Amino acid sequence: MIEIQQLKFSYPRSHFHLHISDLTIETASVSAVVGPSGSGKTTLLHLVAGILPIGVGNVLVDQTDLSTLTDAERRRFRLQQVGLVFQDFELIDYLSVIDNVLLPCRIGDAVALDDGTQQRAVNLLERSGLADHIRKPVTKLSQGEKQRVAICRALLPKPAILMADEPTGNLDPKTSDQILELMLSSAREYKTTVMMVTHDHSLLHQFDRVIDFEQFLTSPETASSAEGASI
Ligand code: ADP
Ligand code: MG
Repeated sequence: MIEIQQLKFSYPRSHFHLHISDLTIETASVSAVVGPSGSGKTTLLHLVAGILPIGVGNVLVDQTDLSTLTDAERRRFRLQQVGLVFQDFELIDYLSVIDNVLLPCRIGDAVALDDGTQQRAVNLLERSGLADHIRKPVTKLSQGEKQRVAICRALLPKPAILMADEPTGNLDPKTSDQILELMLSSAREYKTTVMMVTHDHSLLHQFDRVIDFEQFLTSPETASSAEGASI
């Protein structure tokens, strides 16, 4: 379970404030995250993933309070518990498809590079319709294929949490559906908690829940009076 309490975050030298007083996300639930551009959706994903330090408040992931962790402990938490999928894939161009999927073995100890893991990487790619591309350079793949590689990589360590930031943003509707099906079926199989940012409202019915950032937007008056009070 992810529990966010009285979370306040702002970037240095920025007027943006994220304030979430209370948000609980059940284990193994799949949530869509929607809201206007610039409202803090990516910021929230990065806070819960342990990429950004918690400013004020608490973010508990299965009893671990991220606000009490050091930078090194947060990094460890992220590598062990979180799979991340970005809109622009973030694949390593000079590696093959399979080596991209196996990347978590090289950058952390969440999953060992043994025969079982290699087999799992192959299975994920086969289930994603990429059986014919396993040894190819990723640069030879289409956008939808690249995004499926990124999802396989995120799923390889069987993460407790899967975060996807507009993963279907660059894809046509048919490919979007395939990507979502791949994420949701794997998540249900492994009881993974999923948070996926999307602007595609036609996908929302497939989620257990929609978290709309409209509710977290600080009105300009509130923001300026809060700033005034702190001076
Ligand atoms: P969303 O994903 O909902 O579009 P973001 O979380 O990316 O929103 O950004 C929220 C606000 O924080 C925006 O105003 C953005 O410009 C600002 N922001 C994002 N990243 C940084 C950063 N590293 N430093 C300063 N401001 C940032
Ligand atoms: Mg964003």
